Amino acid sequence: MTNKEISKALKLTAALGELHGENPFKLKSLTNASFQIDRLGESLLGKSLEELQTIPGIGKGIAIKLNELLQVGSTEELDEYLAKTPVGVVDMLGVKGIGPKKVALLWHELGIESPGELLYACNENRLLPLKGFGEKTQESIRQTLEYKLANEGSLHYAEAEIVALEVINYVNKQEPQWRIEMSAELRRKMEIVHEIELISDADITALQDVFGRSERFSELTEDQNFLKFTLDNKYKIGILSCEAEEFEKEQLMLTGPAEHLQELDLDPSEPIQSEQDFYTERGFPYILPELRDLPLDEASAINPEKLVELKDIKGVIHNHSTWSDGANTLEEMAFAARDLNLEYLIICDHSRSAGYAGGLSIERVIEQWKEIDLLNQKLAPFHIFKGIESDILSDSSLDYPEEILKDFDLVVASVHSVLRMDEEKANKRLLKAIENKYTKILGHPTGRLLLSRPGYPINHKLIIDACKANDVVIELNAHPYRLDIDWRWIPYCMEKGVKVSINPDAHRVEGYGDMRYGIEVARKGGLSKDFLFNAANLAEMKAILKK
Ligand SMILES: [Zn+2]
Ligand SMILES: [Zn+2]
Repeated sequence: MTNKEISKALKLTAALGELHGENPFKLKSLTNASFQIDRLGESLLGKSLEELQTIPGIGKGIAIKLNELLQVGSTEELDEYLAKTPVGVVDMLGVKGIGPKKVALLWHELGIESPGELLYACNENRLLPLKGFGEKTQESIRQTLEYKLANEGSLHYAEAEIVALEVINYVNKQEPQWRIEMSAELRRKMEIVHEIELISDADITALQDVFGRSERFSELTEDQNFLKFTLDNKYKIGILSCEAEEFEKEQLMLTGPAEHLQELDLDPSEPIQSEQDFYTERGFPYILPELRDLPLDEASAINPEKLVELKDIKGVIHNHSTWSDGANTLEEMAFAARDLNLEYLIICDHSRSAGYAGGLSIERVIEQWKEIDLLNQKLAPFHIFKGIESDILSDSSLDYPEEILKDFDLVVASVHSVLRMDEEKANKRLLKAIENKYTKILGHPTGRLLLSRPGYPINHKLIIDACKANDVVIELNAHPYRLDIDWRWIPYCMEKGVKVSINPDAHRVEGYGDMRYGIEVARKGGLSKDFLFNAANLAEMKAILKK
């Protein structure tokens, strides 16, 4: 081990000790030693226990630990701590601005076990009720985490798109005659973007010159025909430069994916005038970029006119208000939905077990219904339905007794607690909830948070079949961190005749905007308008929910 690694191991031991509530005096010697060794001129490698004790500031106890580190690369103490701490919690200790005490609170009070979950919690305003976390702290943690994720290279589609648009707008302003477009994963609307890639017909030296004009762009390098650079010291971007006549061909190739081009037998040396020609010559209709991740036979059978669009959504389902953990009042949420020309809002605040999110007691549910009745008189013909996002408890039951459940217009059933389950347990838990006669929608079926937690494993076919059998709709949660159910399962939903509801899970009025991301990925799965649950207009939805 190098001195640096030894110093880090000691620091981590101290942090984990504090996290687990150890004696601070004992930890102080570890922190001091870590600092001392980091500054030491000579390597500790090969030193005996006696020699280690002669280092200034190193007592016998620490010398024994150093010896252990040098001999086996770790210490028993460190291993014990690591064994009882989830990996993601250890990662959180590395986040700037939150010490071990705060991490312990986040872990124990909010059940947050990774930096990604923490970012999600910041966005949902979850940190504010915790002691020592104000609005400022929450915001600075959020920024640190976004930065960290961006530097690890992968981005949620929503963020990657904003970055790409900034670049495109910049070029359009500087050199409006150039052609520049998104490509690769971005153009295919992938839910996670590993590389932001664009394509332009501008000469690479000219491109370099344009990006050299602003300090926001740095680290400009040329790599074959790619210009690579960084935006705001944070986002890595690549632009492929090509001849204007080659633009469509290069765009086709860069868009990919490789399997699609292989299935089409693309020969890089063949002359291609346009993407349209390329497909026509092979006897296929033009295949939209977002459909190119599907097998060719499926993608070419889809009628693009039938694909869902944002304007097909007639009402907004699964939303939160200040009744639970939302930022806007029910009235504000309703007005905002009406302003978007939607015909109805199905409010689904959290149910009573969701203590972390201000879940509604039975008394509060009844109070909310009163407010809904009043607002409905005021807002007609716009309509608010009385929904709930009911926790699926660990024994699979829903969160209220029957006499309350039966009076909701719609129940979204979702798992929020005890997320660590094997597939068997998860299937069982979901199946029972789907079979509950009050469940209308299965909310975010796997609980995944993109780029931070994979979601519990489920047998998708089994779950979708059960939804069919019990007349339950599957949610495509449109939050850009969720996009759950995964679009790859949409063809199976349609094959079985299960409808999909594209729900924003909005916690503030701006959250309605997320429906667009749901639409983008639904199109990737080929979702047809006929299978979109919330394409129902108000009269149709009233009829559906009356049953
Ligand atoms: Zn939820
Ligand atoms: Zn929700």
